[in-house]
Amino acid sequence: MNVLPIYFDVRNKPVAVVGGGTVAARKVEMALRAGARVTAFAEVLGEDFRGVKDHPGFRHERRAIEAADVAPCALVYCAVEEQETADRVHALAKAARVPVNVADNPGLCDFSMPSILDRSPVVVAIGTEGASPILGRMLKARLEAAIPASYGRLAALVRDFRGALKDRVPDIGGRRRFWERIMEGPVAELALAGREAEAEAALSAAIAAGDGDAQTGEVYLVGAGPGDPDLLTFRALRLMQKCDVVLYDRLVSDGVLNLVRRDAERIYVGKKRADHALPQEGISELLVTLAQQGKRVLRLKGGDPFIFGRGGEEIERLAAHRVPFQVVPGITAAAGCSAYSGIPLTHRDHAQSCLFVTGHGKDGDIDADWKALIQPHQTVAIYMGLARLDRLTASFIAHGAAPATPAAIIENGTRDNQRVVVGTIASLVGDAQREGLKGPTIIIIGSVVTLRDRLNWFAGADPAAADLNRTA
Ligand code: SAH
Repeated sequence: MNVLPIYFDVRNKPVAVVGGGTVAARKVEMALRAGARVTAFAEVLGEDFRGVKDHPGFRHERRAIEAADVAPCALVYCAVEEQETADRVHALAKAARVPVNVADNPGLCDFSMPSILDRSPVVVAIGTEGASPILGRMLKARLEAAIPASYGRLAALVRDFRGALKDRVPDIGGRRRFWERIMEGPVAELALAGREAEAEAALSAAIAAGDGDAQTGEVYLVGAGPGDPDLLTFRALRLMQKCDVVLYDRLVSDGVLNLVRRDAERIYVGKKRADHALPQEGISELLVTLAQQGKRVLRLKGGDPFIFGRGGEEIERLAAHRVPFQVVPGITAAAGCSAYSGIPLTHRDHAQSCLFVTGHGKDGDIDADWKALIQPHQTVAIYMGLARLDRLTASFIAHGAAPATPAAIIENGTRDNQRVVVGTIASLVGDAQREGLKGPTIIIIGSVVTLRDRLNWFAGADPAAADLNRTA
């Protein structure tokens, strides 16, 4: 290690930046964010200064920097093209013993600027000793994914209560265990979910009890998306990796399930049509029971939990039993199928609205207002429609849809084995039979389907099948 990483307090201290270009603007921004009073020395300020120009901590001097400007500074940055200016600024700073950074000139730098992940008060800095700033930025991007944006809230919460715990638990080891349990438990989840008041209340209670392990379980109702694990949200992944038990159903792909914490207990709760391994009532009941045992329960649902997922019913029960829960949205099947089949659900020239409907209504037909369904410039995405496809397409035509209306079926959307069949409302039943589609499928009806010819990008595991579908 050739440098000493430190965090430097520049609040209310003067910082000078020489230069008016993009790099100078970034330094100004960063110093302002850290609370410094920043003066930029430059003939003109470029476009990139737009965001900082009106900042109360910012000043612009249209002249060269002088020794008297440098002397009171905490730091000096220089980001100019001309080597002569750079040398001069460097010399001024050295004379005044002020640490200086000259952009793109490691030999003239007392300190370097790391890539920063800002979850204030948590700040992660990544430096490469100038070896590769690009690599630093790539690492930062990875950390962005790994450290939730809301971690700052959690740190701020803990900061506010540290004193109180110290009074309550004098033993340092006891305090460490307390905070570890808090960070893993529902208080942290409340803070991360933005429910700060509740988090504060729960934390106060835990401190009063001198106990971070209140044994309250919680439930995460998480959308697992349509199958491709890359489509999970950051929050979904984080909760999947901390749960004690997972309840999942048929629509959750193996790829997604593989990302659940290895030693979490797995409970399959079925949910094929007519083959419910556990009826809905039982699932809701089980969620409550497991949470009441103090477990972190992951309820993993295909797609989005609030779109044809009965997620609402499950958490109503939780709410009634005062079990803490949170809901994480997922990419719903229609959105995933749309993207991975190259069929936009809306498009300026084709459709200004899109309806999501279920083809598995009460009497096995679409429970819908047909007039609203069959409208020009509208796309209809049908979930659970394959089983009664014949009746469905016949109903569309009977209610006035043109038999030649373009239509597509996407089976196993976003997965390696995705298949897409394109035809018309009239041809769809035959097409599906010929291809032997089994499901899960999304049916998309509307002229947007014709865009697939140009926008199809995802082949699935079998490019030949994709070609075949394209000519279907
Ligand atoms: N909550 C889910 C929908 C559950 S209903 C969501 O938001 O996506 C189950 C139906 O979703 C299936 O019958 C099928 O119509 C659709 N579906 C789910 N995953 C799918 C996939 N990978 N490809 C195509 N359709 C899918």
